Amino acid sequence: MPFKPDFKLPSFEPASALWFVFNKGKLLIKTTGEPCAIPETSDLGRHKPALIRKQYIGALDGRFCFAAELPDENTQDAPLKFQELRSLFGLMEENLIWIAGRANQLVYWNQTHQYCGGCGWPTEDKTDERAKICPQCSLINYPRLSPAVIVAVLKNNQILLGRNRRFKLPFYSVLAGFVEPGETLEACVKREIREEVGIAVKNIRYFGSQPWPFPNSLMIAFVADYAGGEISTDGSEIVDAAWFSKNSLPQIPPKISIARQLIDWFVQTA
Ligand SMILES: [Zn+2]
Repeated sequence: MPFKPDFKLPSFEPASALWFVFNKGKLLIKTTGEPCAIPETSDLGRHKPALIRKQYIGALDGRFCFAAELPDENTQDAPLKFQELRSLFGLMEENLIWIAGRANQLVYWNQTHQYCGGCGWPTEDKTDERAKICPQCSLINYPRLSPAVIVAVLKNNQILLGRNRRFKLPFYSVLAGFVEPGETLEACVKREIREEVGIAVKNIRYFGSQPWPFPNSLMIAFVADYAGGEISTDGSEIVDAAWFSKNSLPQIPPKISIARQLIDWFVQTA
């Protein structure tokens, strides 16, 4: 049974639930038993009463799942530790990774919307949907999502890949950028590719999408064809970019990302 998201707290707290607990964006995992397992209620021990801003997020195989924060990152007395969510890619069961990503987005949103952005009054949880409402001025805030396009640009059986200054590892990937207010996704694709590498693109077509919970992106992937221009990197965000054939690819991103899915699709079809 897949994960069934929900926001309404069940009328009773079950004896055993799965807890997606975060501290500064790091996820709490068990250090005993199955590798990279999510703690159950009984695993939390003395840390259970210390959890703050608990949210019900849904059920996995009928088991209730909660997201919460633990202010104290010192868990040495329990078989638990905090680990970067990203570092669990490939180690943790993929289904759990995406639930943890959803939990991370909701925890971050909850933490950063404790007060009304309009009048500064403390917000309350809305009872009929996942949102926060201000009891003073009625402003409603939904969980924040930041849409971003990610694009595989193709030219004569080659793919355009660039190295972003922010990448921790020296890999090359397809280009991406955040959508601006008032912009269509297609206009964003054209603008980002032009700004980052000075290339014009055409024939933009939808590929797929993926939540990217660091902390709240939604990646919308496209394939586009080269339409003109010479590569000239912007020097600030993209430090190097080039055309690569499928037999001469540089180091590319890890399997789980939609960036990698775009590159794998290119390798299969080029
Ligand atoms: Zn307000």
